[in-house]
Amino acid sequence: MKFHQMNWQQRLAAIDANTNLSTSEKALLNHNYSAINEQMIENYITSFSLPEGVLPNIIINDDAYQVPMVTEEPSVIAAASNGARMINMGGGVHTTNVSREMIGQVLINDADFSTIETLVTNQAAHLIDLGNAAHPSMAQRGGGLKRITTRDLGSGFVSVDLHIDTQAAMGANVVNTISEAVAGYFKAQQVGNVVMAILSNFATSSLVTAKVALPFKAIAKAGFEAADIAQRIVLANQFSQRDPYRATTENKGVMNGIDAVVMASGNDWRAISAGVHAYAARDGQYRNLVTWTCDDTTLYGEITVPMPVGIVGGSISIVPLVQTNHKLLNVDSASQLAQVIVAVGLAQNLSALRALVTSGIQAGHMQLQLKSLALAVGATIAEVPVLVTQLQQAAHADMQTARQLLTEMREK
Ligand code: NDP
Repeated sequence: MKFHQMNWQQRLAAIDANTNLSTSEKALLNHNYSAINEQMIENYITSFSLPEGVLPNIIINDDAYQVPMVTEEPSVIAAASNGARMINMGGGVHTTNVSREMIGQVLINDADFSTIETLVTNQAAHLIDLGNAAHPSMAQRGGGLKRITTRDLGSGFVSVDLHIDTQAAMGANVVNTISEAVAGYFKAQQVGNVVMAILSNFATSSLVTAKVALPFKAIAKAGFEAADIAQRIVLANQFSQRDPYRATTENKGVMNGIDAVVMASGNDWRAISAGVHAYAARDGQYRNLVTWTCDDTTLYGEITVPMPVGIVGGSISIVPLVQTNHKLLNVDSASQLAQVIVAVGLAQNLSALRALVTSGIQAGHMQLQLKSLALAVGATIAEVPVLVTQLQQAAHADMQTARQLLTEMREK
């Protein structure tokens, strides 16, 4: 029998035969079984969980939000909350989501661009009807295929771009269904070699912008001049404009916040990451996503990224915890969710840059990492606080020291 044809017990037995699992390891796999999750993927064996926390208060467009975040990184939620605290002092984040469309691509080579362009212009209404007939419910609720454009990719390569309103869904499956239907038309016309049809994750028609204006007092920190902090944040940000090495790291910090909310809201974080990073390189050089500027009194921050998330579809309606998270988020639309996510990314970035240009990132990071370090060397939940206190006083809070301190603690 093939692995994917086995039932859950048979799969576990097959893995056990290959791996020689201990009794407690088998119990772990069993304990985390979920009948719902088993339906969601192929070759299911167990469920993998990550910590979820909440950013308790971020003001966005004058409304207060509590935001669930899923992450394994100790400092992420603390940093987001700290960023939000500063941002709230400046009146909160102001966000806009100008359009919310996904792009499906029909990719054709061996093609004459002008022939395809003319065909698309002349047959636009027919092609739109054809696409919408493939998933009529989306058009019925006001969405669906709205317009079609073409791009000449050179050397006979052409992309026919389908602009699709997916309403409250992220829409990958809907877009793919519509794109394949339209691809069928081009195949029949024999205007080139239709290679494939699929959505693009470079969702440039689902851009969200978030802005903050922070009076210097909002970013004040004991031992530092607030105006100096603002200027150093601007400078730090300018390095990322120039240097992809630094930009990648700054954007990773932004994604600490974005991905954590994308995951908590049951959305596809790979799709969001791919789109965001492509957007960061849209002019040919990979750059930072957030821009910071300042005048004599105020620090200004702005981020624009593609954020095609949904509040229905995919795993969202299936996973009970995701539904609870949507209740915490209290958003009514996919657009509103997208704006919350981008606002959290901006808060995350502010917190990281302020730490970097003042006391350095490790001061705050390591306090939180120490708990993970204690667990990593085998401390029990009861031993963790004692070991963390000892690590705080140690010259080097590294794994070797943690192991040694734990051994000494147990010997006592
Ligand atoms: P679904 O396939 O679940 O489609 C959305 C569903 O939501 C449809 O069944 C739709 O109903 C229903 N729905 C109910 N109310 C609404 C509403 N108001 N607006 C819109 N839809 C509504 O999910 P998506 O198409 O959003 O696809 C997302 C999934 O696709 C994710 O799991 C993602 O991981 C995956 N994916 C991603 C890819 C990528 O990013 N490259 C590629 C392929 C898959 P109805 O059927 O009646 O229209």
